[in-house]
Amino acid sequence: MEFFDRAETWDRAVIEAAQVVRLRNTVEQAGRCAFYAERFAEAKVTAADIRTPDDIRRIPFTTKDDLRSQYPEGLLCVPRDEIVRMHSSSGTTGTPVAICHTRNDLNSWADLMARSMYMAGVRRSDVFQNMSGYGLFTGGLGIHAGAERLGCMTIPAGAGNTLRQIKLVKDFRTTVIHIIPSYALVLANTLRENGEDPSALPLRIALIGAEPHSKETRQRVEEALGVTAYNSFGLSEMNGPGVAFECQEQNGLHVWEDAYLVEIIDPDTGEYVAEGELGELVLSTLCRVGMPILRYRTRDLTRFLPGNCACGRMHRRIDRIQGRTDDMFIIKGVNIYPMQIEHVIMGRPEVGQNYLIVLENEGPKEDIKIKVEIRDEYFVEDMRALQGLQQKIARRLQSEILVTPKVELVQPNSLPTSEGKATRVLDLREK
Ligand code: ADP
Ligand code: ZN
Repeated sequence: MEFFDRAETWDRAVIEAAQVVRLRNTVEQAGRCAFYAERFAEAKVTAADIRTPDDIRRIPFTTKDDLRSQYPEGLLCVPRDEIVRMHSSSGTTGTPVAICHTRNDLNSWADLMARSMYMAGVRRSDVFQNMSGYGLFTGGLGIHAGAERLGCMTIPAGAGNTLRQIKLVKDFRTTVIHIIPSYALVLANTLRENGEDPSALPLRIALIGAEPHSKETRQRVEEALGVTAYNSFGLSEMNGPGVAFECQEQNGLHVWEDAYLVEIIDPDTGEYVAEGELGELVLSTLCRVGMPILRYRTRDLTRFLPGNCACGRMHRRIDRIQGRTDDMFIIKGVNIYPMQIEHVIMGRPEVGQNYLIVLENEGPKEDIKIKVEIRDEYFVEDMRALQGLQQKIARRLQSEILVTPKVELVQPNSLPTSEGKATRVLDLREK
C-alpha cells in the first residue's frame, strides 16, 4: 500500500496522542477571539483540561447560527494581516458563513486534499479536470490546490458548458475529474445524446461529492462515464473538501483524524449515539489557526462504520451522508429524507438521470408527487406499459417511505438541471 502522508500510517495510539496535543493548541488558539473566550469561560474549560480526546466533551457545541452571528470576521484568531484567503459556504440553507485562512491553513488543507486524491488512486501522471464551480465554493480552489500539490496537470474547467467539458477531456486526455454527482448525471446524458462512447474516453477516476447521493447514483456515474467514482466529503466550515474521503475499498469515508476530531451525536440530546448508529456529525479543526472551529454541528447525518478498513488506514470511517437534519420533510405525518426516495428511483433501470420531489397541498390534504425522467427507450407510446411502470415505482417508493406518492413519468431532459448542488425538493405547500 502506498501512502502520500505519514499520518496515513499512524495507529490509533499515535492518532490519539496527536489529537490531544492539537486539540489543546486549538483551544488555546480559539480563545484568542471573544466568542470562544466567552464560551470557554462559561464552560469553565481551559486548554490544560484537555488530557484525552474525550475531553472535547467539556467544550460546548458551535452551531451554524453561531458562525452566522460572528460573520464576517468575529472568529478571527490571528491578526488580519496573516489572512491570505476567504471562503464562504454556498449558502444552501440561508445566510452565509465566512472562513478565513492563513498561508499555513491553506498549506495543510492542500496537503489533506492531495492525500485524499492519492488515496483514491490519483497520481502526478494524471490529467485532472475540475468540473465544479470555482469562486467562493470550496470545491473549486480547494480541490484545485490538492491536484497541483500532487503534481497533476490541472484544468480549472469550472462547472457547466458541458460540450466544452467533453472537448477538454478529449483534447487534453483528462483521466480524473471532480464533479458534483447531479452534474455528473447531466454530463452522462450529454455524452449519450452525442453518441459518445464513454469507454473511448480517457477518464478513469471521478471524485464525486458536495451533495448527498445514493450508492445507486454512484453506480450510474461509474457506468455512464466509464470511471471508478470516489466519495469526497467536506464543508466550508472545516476548510472544504478533504475532510473525509473514500479509499480504493469504496466502503465508507476515512475522516482525517490527525486534522479533524470527529464525533457523532443524537441531534436531540447532544449525547453520543451507540457505535454504528445514525446521528449528526460533529467536527473540530485540529490544525487551523486563522479560524479554528470546535465541535461544529454539521447537521449531516451519518454513522461510524465498525471494524478496520482493508486498506490499512486506522483513521475511522463514516458511512455515506444520508442527508442533513434540515433536509427532512414531513408529509402526512411521516418523516422522509430525499435520499430514501433517490435510493429507490436511481435503482430502477427504466429511470433516466433526473428526478424532482414536489410537495403540495389542498387545504389540509397533503400530497407528495415525484417527477421521474424515463429513459428514451422506455418512453413508449403504450399507455398500459407506462402505467405499469408508474405503479411499480410508486409501490417501491411506498414500501420505503410509507406514504403513497403520486409518480409522474416525464421525458428525458425535461426537469431542471443544475451545475452546482441540485435542488431535489420543491415545497409548494401553503404554510
Ligand atoms: P453549504 O452548507 O452552503 O452547502 P458547503 O459548500 O460548505 O456549503 O457544503 C457542505 C455541505 O455539503 C456538507 O455539510 C454536506 O451537507 C454536503 N456535502 C458535502 N460533501 C458531501 C458528500 N460527499 N455527501 C453528502 N453530502 C455532502
Ligand atoms: Zn480504507
